[in-house]
Amino acid sequence: MNQTHRVKRIGIFGSTGSIGTQALEVIAEHPDKFSAEVLTCNGNDDLLIEQAIKYKPNIVVITDESKYLKVKDALSATDVKVFAGEKALEEVAAMDVYDLMLAAIVGYAGLKPTLKAIDSGKPVALANKETLVVAGDIVMQTAIEKRVPIIPVDSEHSAIFQCLVGEMRNPIEKVILTASGGPFLGRKPNYLVNVKREHALQHPNWTMGAKISIDSATLMNKGLEMIEAKWLFNLHPSQIEVLIHPQSIIHSMVQFEDGSVKAQLGLPDMKLPIQYAMAFPQRITNEYPRCDFRKIKSLTFEEPDIRTFKNLGLAIEALNKGGNLPCVLNAANEIAVYAFLRNRIGFLDMTDVIERVMEKIPFIAKPSLEEYFDSDGDAREYAADLIKL
Ligand code: NDP
Ligand code: MG
Repeated sequence: MNQTHRVKRIGIFGSTGSIGTQALEVIAEHPDKFSAEVLTCNGNDDLLIEQAIKYKPNIVVITDESKYLKVKDALSATDVKVFAGEKALEEVAAMDVYDLMLAAIVGYAGLKPTLKAIDSGKPVALANKETLVVAGDIVMQTAIEKRVPIIPVDSEHSAIFQCLVGEMRNPIEKVILTASGGPFLGRKPNYLVNVKREHALQHPNWTMGAKISIDSATLMNKGLEMIEAKWLFNLHPSQIEVLIHPQSIIHSMVQFEDGSVKAQLGLPDMKLPIQYAMAFPQRITNEYPRCDFRKIKSLTFEEPDIRTFKNLGLAIEALNKGGNLPCVLNAANEIAVYAFLRNRIGFLDMTDVIERVMEKIPFIAKPSLEEYFDSDGDAREYAADLIKL
């Protein structure tokens, strides 16, 4: 952080989403600590304009260029600079107008701006897990070279990160990622075959964007998180375990070499890990509801049902094989989820699409960044062909 600024200037990439809007609430609660200097969205011009008027950022970016003039006009009486297009996201990510990027764009679209920020020496609070799923080796290597901290926002990884504070010299035996199990916990394929988008979007413990809600229902989200954990904490796949914990009170755990286990607990509220990542290494006060352990009757744990929730199995395969396979898995999944959300394919069809794309796209053991981009493009194209999008 630039020493001349006492207020940390946050660049929220994806400010109109679930994470982005909650981050803005955190900023509004702590105007002495944070300001929103960059706000970006894909196409939600109305919300972006509203946010810009309220938070007075230095810059806004709208990816959909057809909406540029509308945003520009609406903000013409302000000092806010308006940019449009995918390239602008990367250009702004490299500018010295903010101290910390909150990477809250959903999906592959978040990769390039996030990588650009890291390459420009900007610390990143990372919500966009797909960035690490697609090109984790290159992203982490760049962060090491540029000495840039990547602070996780994903609740599980924030929990692990918090457990590791003060433990840097102590090797990890394993991490245990907890999973709520999603809305279809305990269900079998004969039920899942008929579920529709409205039902799949109803998560029991968290309110999130559409894509991650579907990923949570299929357990793909937990698979993506295993890959995310591998890169963030430099783990071997065998050190990453998933445990279903329906109450979502334990956000994840770390087991050390002496068998001791540390966990981070709290009520499920994304504003906590968002605030933690933004304020790190400080903890700041808030008025959010506290966890009352007298009211929590039990904390339960069970094995994930990988036979039913096959997407988790596919993600584990990608985690184990590495190379471009996680990138291919992610691309196929983004297309499959998009098609499911538009009622073009059924819930279980998503798995078939991903599996067939993973079989089809040639394996590359150590891809370059260009090869990751190509693998992503090829996988999307083949997935779209299969679905006849
Ligand atoms: P949302 O769908 O709610 O928001 C996504 C944001 O990204 C919006 O601002 C959206 O703009 C923008 N966006 C979407 N597509 C593009 C694109 N092609 N180019 C540029 N910007 C784009 O997602 P969430 O907030 O739920 O999730 C964001 C990330 O955080 C994901 O990677 C998710 O996995 C991760 N995460 C989310 C959690 C949650 O609780 N929501 C928890 C843990 C991780 P617009 O509104 O204009 O479409
Ligand atoms: Mg998570």
